[in-house]
Amino acid sequence: MVMGCDICGEEDSLLEANHRKMGKVMVCRKCWSELYRKNKMVTGSGGCSTCSSFCGSCGF
Ligand SMILES: [Zn+2]
Repeated sequence: MVMGCDICGEEDSLLEANHRKMGKVMVCRKCWSELYRKNKMVTGSGGCSTCSSFCGSCGF
């Protein structure tokens, strides 16, 4: 079973995001940055405490 992006279905490396309406979703990088840019994600209060490789808070 292959997991795809919850938004576009792309089988890319998926990132976890907290969508304002959909809750916890797995999305591709493209949709992730799209969500971030449109401010559709619930950002954690702790900034980038769980930052691994792609963080919107620290920009890394
Ligand atoms: Zn996507």
